[in-house]
Amino acid sequence: MALPAFALFGPPGCGKGTQAVMIKDRLGFLHVSTGDIFRNAIARKDPQAMEAQEIMQRGELVPDELIRDMLSNELSILLKEQKDAKGLILDGFPRTVNQAGLLDALLEQHQLRFMGVLSLEVEEEELIQRLINRAKEQGRADDTEDVIRERMRVYREKTQPLEEYYKDKKMYFAANGVGSLEEVYTRIVPIIQSWM
Ligand code: AMP
Repeated sequence: MALPAFALFGPPGCGKGTQAVMIKDRLGFLHVSTGDIFRNAIARKDPQAMEAQEIMQRGELVPDELIRDMLSNELSILLKEQKDAKGLILDGFPRTVNQAGLLDALLEQHQLRFMGVLSLEVEEEELIQRLINRAKEQGRADDTEDVIRERMRVYREKTQPLEEYYKDKKMYFAANGVGSLEEVYTRIVPIIQSWM
């Protein structure tokens, strides 16, 4: 049977990446982060990624088709290497309504069964504080408060509409993203297990 896949959804700083790693380690899912794929492509000086690097540094979204192609390549490699995976977590994709359309073809191409989006809900001011602290802790010098606020604005404008899009399809599942890592994990794990 096709492997179940879902997208972790929510604004920057909502804890998607951390929860994704917990789901990966404890439930045996594959974790694919388009932000990581893009950063890795820049690190190995991939020409197309280098061209889009400035866009990312401004806190904006890189072109849909570029992200789609990078994600598709990564999926081909991962799904071939890790045949015993229990499912797939998409982290950072889809991020626009257009990407949600592109996702359908990707799912079919890679024989994945899409279960929906799982949203971690956190207030915006708490998110901005979390991101500022993370930038300090991890020494992300280019993650200034201005860039963080821009990423939040882009989220509201381009990504937030996906909430209605998936609600209409009855594929939107939300959990409170405030609390300890374990508290949040406990809230989302029954939803994920119902898809396995
Ligand atoms: P993230 O680590 O998910 O916050 O992603 C970091 C940056 O990579 C984003 O601010 C975008 O510039 C770019 N990026 C990641 N995923 C996507 C996507 N699905 N669509 C467009 N740009 C993306």
